[in-house]
Formats: sequence, C-alpha cells, structure tokens
Amino acid sequence: MRVLLVEDDLMIGESLSEALQDEAYTVDWVKDGRQAILTLKMQSYDIILLDLGLPEIDGMGVLTVIRDAKMATPVLIITARDDVKDRIAGLDSGADDYVVKPFELGEVFARMRVLIRRAQGKADNQLSVGNLNLDTAHKRVIMDGTPVDLTAKEYMLLTTFMLAPEKVMSKTKLEDSLYGWGGEVESNAIEFLIHSLRKKLGQERIKNVRGLGWYISNKD
Ligand code: CA
Repeated sequence: MRVLLVEDDLMIGESLSEALQDEAYTVDWVKDGRQAILTLKMQSYDIILLDLGLPEIDGMGVLTVIRDAKMATPVLIITARDDVKDRIAGLDSGADDYVVKPFELGEVFARMRVLIRRAQGKADNQLSVGNLNLDTAHKRVIMDGTPVDLTAKEYMLLTTFMLAPEKVMSKTKLEDSLYGWGGEVESNAIEFLIHSLRKKLGQERIKNVRGLGWYISNKD
C-alpha cells in the first residue's frame, strides 16, 4: 500500500510518516503542492493524505489537478480546526474525507482504511484467498485457523497479492508497492521475500509466471 503524504509541517510530517510505516504503509512525503502534483504525474498511490495550507500551490490547487486528471485515488484532507470553510470546499472539490489537527493517529488510520476499502469495493477489512485470511485493521494473518507470524515486509507483500488474487504482478510493480523513494531496494529483495512467504504459507500458494512475475493462487 503506497501513500503520498503532502504536509509542510515538519513535526507532523515526520511523526505521521513514521507512524504510517509502522502501520505497514509505504510512504512518500512531499512538503509543498508543486512537488505533490509532479509526484502524482509519475507515481500512482493507494491513498493521498493532503494538508490544505501548503507553500507553492495549496491543497485546494492540488485537489483541482487531481480532479481534472480524473484520478480515482482517494484523498484524505488533514486540516486545522478553524478551517471549516476550507474543509467544505475540499470535500466539494473531490476530497473523500478529512481529519482535523490535532488528530488521533488511530482515527487517521481508520479513515484511511475506510477510503481504501471503498476504492477497492470492499465492505470490511478482511481479505481471503483459499485457506488464508488477512485482517488489514489488526494486521493479522490466519491460515487454517492458525495465526502466521510475518515480518512487516512479508505482510506488505502478502497484502499486495491478496488484494488481487490470481493476478500476475511484475517485479517492478511489487517493488513499487513495498519501497518508497528513500528505501534502497536490493535487486533480489522480492525473490527473497517470496521465498520466505512460501516457507510460511506453503510452496504452492504463490506461483511464478516465467518472465512476467508472480500471483497468489486461490487453490489450497
Ligand atoms: Ca500546512
């Protein structure tokens, strides 16, 4: 799950991006509206967290670009308590929801899950494929009724697969959803993670299509 965080306040931006990474999101953080727009032209995201008061181009300007480009990515506005008018304008301009500063991280995450779920057309936080169940709210993976211990990166990779069962994903696409700009990607990082996921979930769960990539199989 890749998140674009647009926030010029360094303290909020730092703590939010750290907390998001702890929640197993891949985060790219930009600090003004112009950078946000440039980034959105090059990279796709699962959700955008957007501050409204920004240097260069403000949050409303970013929203206008998103709307004009007909991007379907959900947008959660992060706004100050006294910005009621801006909040309304933001929602009217295509934002999906907002949180008010100072916010509880738990609420931000819950609202993000709702928006991501809605974008995926899902009613709850459960993903299931065959005998595997993944709870995105509690970050738990259950196989045949037994919890499976995964590292953060293994969990992120499994989520990416389980969101689209039977769909082949290229190595680039998988690297993209697991690693933001800051993170160095070892050339065989994905292969290594798939190897360890197979050890934990069974060899047949994740299939390889030579030259194209991998997919998660529905069959137990
Ligand atoms: Ca701001």
